[in-house]
Amino acid sequence: MTTPTRRTPARLADTRALLFDLDGVLTPTADVHMRAWSRLFTPYLEAHGVAPYTQADYFAFIDGKPRYDGVRSLLESRGIELPLGTPDDAPDDDTVCGLGNRKNAEFTAELDEHGVEPYPGSLRFLTTAIEAGLHVAVVSSSANAVVVLRTAGILDRFPVVVDGLVARQDGLAGKPAPDTYLDAAGRFGLTAAECVVVEDATSGVEAGRNGAFGLVIGVDRGAGADALREHGADVVVTDLADLITELPQPAVSTT
Ligand SMILES: [Mg+2]
Repeated sequence: MTTPTRRTPARLADTRALLFDLDGVLTPTADVHMRAWSRLFTPYLEAHGVAPYTQADYFAFIDGKPRYDGVRSLLESRGIELPLGTPDDAPDDDTVCGLGNRKNAEFTAELDEHGVEPYPGSLRFLTTAIEAGLHVAVVSSSANAVVVLRTAGILDRFPVVVDGLVARQDGLAGKPAPDTYLDAAGRFGLTAAECVVVEDATSGVEAGRNGAFGLVIGVDRGAGADALREHGADVVVTDLADLITELPQPAVSTT
């Protein structure tokens, strides 16, 4: 039996750019999503006189699914059938897409009202990387990436943001396809081998492996270190601050 040849991962100190996933890597956005779903379904289910919405519903029917699929699964669990509608439906339309769009409005409202802070360790890692002269980009499937970055106060750190809107506009396949990460690398004029992918989801580290990036860092926020490694992470940490000392050293001014 032959084992496939594996590339030697690049050292963090030798790379040129860091390409960060957003939700779960830079910001704890999952909490904001959970609260937004609750804001949507608590009054909706109450008005329909069915079993009330609980956090268990989130994990059973919604978590990890595309938004409209999550709406449909939750409604099915309560025996409510709605027409699918279209993504252009207004947030108050009583369709699956309408409800999904309402959830998005609740997400933005949650951000406005309560804000979101970057993970402190991620912020320190990011700041050190920028000081060391590395290029940094955000590569996220979310259509809300820019508003999340702005709310977290770190939008101005990122000259390149490849988010769900850019992907749709440019016809880029989503993770685990490497296309969105490759697009970000290309915007810096760099090859995949010169860039690092930083991800918390198995589909994300897989995108890093599929694109043959120089190094794939898995941040374990619950996916599990073994799962992240199996899907392509070269290194797994629970806090990006653990990798700060491995970044290139900032250029020392000699003037
Ligand atoms: Mg993520």
